[in-house]
Amino acid sequence: THFGYEKVTESEKQDRVAGVFSSVAESYDKMNDFMSLGIHRLWKDHFVSSLNPGATTPLGRPQRMLDVAGGTGDIAFRMLQHSHVRNGNPNIHITISDINPNMLAVGKQRSLDLPASYQSNLSFLEANAEVLPPQIKDNSLDLYTVSFGIRNFSNIPAALREAYRVLKPGGVFACLEFSKVDQYPLLNAIYKRWSFSAIPLIGQLVAADRDSYQYLVESIERFPSQGHFRDMIVDAGFAVLGDGYENLTGGIAAIHKGIKP
Ligand code: SAM
Repeated sequence: THFGYEKVTESEKQDRVAGVFSSVAESYDKMNDFMSLGIHRLWKDHFVSSLNPGATTPLGRPQRMLDVAGGTGDIAFRMLQHSHVRNGNPNIHITISDINPNMLAVGKQRSLDLPASYQSNLSFLEANAEVLPPQIKDNSLDLYTVSFGIRNFSNIPAALREAYRVLKPGGVFACLEFSKVDQYPLLNAIYKRWSFSAIPLIGQLVAADRDSYQYLVESIERFPSQGHFRDMIVDAGFAVLGDGYENLTGGIAAIHKGIKP
């Protein structure tokens, strides 16, 4: 493959990922729209409504959520909106964490446009999902989200174990990620052609950064199938309902959920 990925060590992978996201931070939001034809917005809206944040807060105690690899804030901002507007519940707290300070800086900047009451529900944390820092305590969270982040982690089982550790019993792990279109050969052919030819080219033209976008495409290719990833979630100790996942747009993306027993 492009970066000879199979041969690189975990720390080399981490450096590579850091490089990719430092260089794409500024163009990241624009590129998401180009690459997915805007569809990532619909997936994110659906992901957040399906989690219904703010619906179940016990009186007094805020519902605590951690958006891991939260980058530029797309998921957290939707969760705030959903909780405040749909559930009329301002009593939540969301920590946006990311390993990359450039992505967090873009998120912080964007959060300044939110209403003040939303901003007071937010905090930002530079953290590696595989080794969350001590301020995220065991059994402390109601909801852990990770959206289009986990496929970049060097050690996915370690990140799942951390998710399990920090969630309360009954707390929910929820992941939105690119997945496999195996059941629809025609859609799969079109999608593969789009991702392997068009995305690196768009990356080159719009962000002058072909390599980073080539990396993103290859990281999708390497990520496990829906069933395999569900099994990894179960191996980390989570309980799943039904198949444990929901396909979006024929499996181009999928939502996985697990509940800590
Ligand atoms: N969640 C956002 C979204 O849905 O648009 C951003 C996703 S962005 C494609 C992936 C993010 O994962 C980047 O911000 C990157 O810095 C972060 N990331 C990569 N490896 C990480 C790790 N080990 N721990 C935490 N974040 C990581």
